[in-house]
Amino acid sequence: MAIKLKEAGIDSFVILEKASEVGGTWRENTYPGCACDVQSHLYSYSFEGNPNWSHKFAPWNEIQAYILELTDKYELRPHIRFDHKVREAVFDGDEGLWHIRTENGDAVAANAFVLGTGPLHVPLVPDIPGLDSFKGKIFHSSQWAHDYDLEGKTVASIGTGGSAIQYVPEVAPLAKRLHVFQRTAPWILPKPDRSYREFERTLFRLSPLLRKLHRGWLYVRNEARVLPIMNPPLAKLLERAAMLYVRHCVDDPALMEKLTPDYTIGCKRVLLSNNYYQVFNRPNVELVTDALTEVKEHSLVTKDGVERPVDVIILGTGFHADPRNYLDELSIKGLGGRDLLEHWAPGPEAYLGISVPGFPNLFELVGPNTGLGHNSLIFMIESQVRYIVQCLKLLEKREAKYMDVRRDRLRRYNEELEHRLENTVWTSGCKSWYTQEDGKNIAIWPGFSFRYRARTRTVNPDHYVWTPRNETATVDRHGRDRDPNTDRHRRAGFRRLGRAH
Ligand code: NAP
Repeated sequence: MAIKLKEAGIDSFVILEKASEVGGTWRENTYPGCACDVQSHLYSYSFEGNPNWSHKFAPWNEIQAYILELTDKYELRPHIRFDHKVREAVFDGDEGLWHIRTENGDAVAANAFVLGTGPLHVPLVPDIPGLDSFKGKIFHSSQWAHDYDLEGKTVASIGTGGSAIQYVPEVAPLAKRLHVFQRTAPWILPKPDRSYREFERTLFRLSPLLRKLHRGWLYVRNEARVLPIMNPPLAKLLERAAMLYVRHCVDDPALMEKLTPDYTIGCKRVLLSNNYYQVFNRPNVELVTDALTEVKEHSLVTKDGVERPVDVIILGTGFHADPRNYLDELSIKGLGGRDLLEHWAPGPEAYLGISVPGFPNLFELVGPNTGLGHNSLIFMIESQVRYIVQCLKLLEKREAKYMDVRRDRLRRYNEELEHRLENTVWTSGCKSWYTQEDGKNIAIWPGFSFRYRARTRTVNPDHYVWTPRNETATVDRHGRDRDPNTDRHRRAGFRRLGRAH
């Protein structure tokens, strides 16, 4: 976002960052084995190809190094205020400004407010009775205790998602004993990973065209994965392949059974690994599928009454991925003091995952229903950034104080999403962070990512209500900001300015 703002000639922006360094996911997740499950040449910016990726799937530290390098290359550091956790953002309709306050008391007034908060950074600590009373070492996968030596320890690992399947194979050879607590078996396919040979890296360095073709090929291959996701009968074929893979890796039929998921493949994220299943052939590793009922001072107890003494618990239990949880320490108030999280009580919704009615000039990155289960999220983020930069230019060009997405547009957009989500693997009856309690999918873009790119390519001004800069009477007789979405006069008045796009 910052790079593209600068390229667009917009230099007056600040980045408020809660941490002391850039990097997000790749700053926080440093556990052993941590790597991206999207190919490196695709999990990087289209405008900043990197010929030097060591592997098809880069380890976390290479991605973090890439982010740090670009932060310096584009001279972004002067724009960043580190250790500035945002606590409050209030929109003033009179001024057309967002008033943003951080935890340490800093205040920023901005015409536009971009939420680049991302959904996977607030650790989910499971609600298991007695967990607080555990006297041994305990840490979450995203807060790995690198100074704690796991050598010779009895380890409990809870969860079998994308993080756990990466660190479990690294912990198993160190631990005296490793108990892996699985609530739901994940679908896992082999990871087509390998290191890039020196001559390949040299070719990528010499020929950006070749690198782009490689990237394009990876993109097309990944896009094809949508087909089984959107068509459950096709997913059955993929399930067969995945089941063959479990059989190939695991010797014991009972274990094989426990490791085989009971939901349609793709309903939760499909994981990639070449060394996870094999871990369970080791004599020091146990797969526990009985539910955890209690944690005692030095042990864990399962439903069947078995108590397992352990030295350390590793929580591979994921994150609070619902914005109503991970944004709950940030109060965002739009027109008329409307609270974003209250507004989202029935479910988070945003037009193209970017704009929310009643919250003018607020733009989201990786907003509702723009996550991907099959391709690179960077592709979606670049689409959103391009759209937001266009919005900012339009605000300038139309001399508008603010733009507010039309409610009817969002309603139609959501109806379309719901329709496309029908009869996909996500509605086949599994529970994951993609869906909320009532089963509504709030996280995933249903379909090809190039369709999202097409939808966000050009901002249609008619999808927004525009409030001109010279409009002063923005407060109604109760002292509240008037909502332009319901103000027919304003809409008509602004139309007279003509379509400037
Ligand atoms: P996750 O996918 O949400 O997995 C959390 C795991 O913890 C699940 O197995 C879950 O079981 C289990 N769990 C949660 N609460 C539990 C409880 N109370 N008792 C027992 N088990 C419990 O989290 P993650 O592995 O940290 O991954 C987060 C996201 O990042 C995922 O989308 C993942 O694919 C992604 N990721 C990506 C990469 C990458 O390479 N790009 C790497 C790592 C992670 P249930 O399934 O039964 O809920």
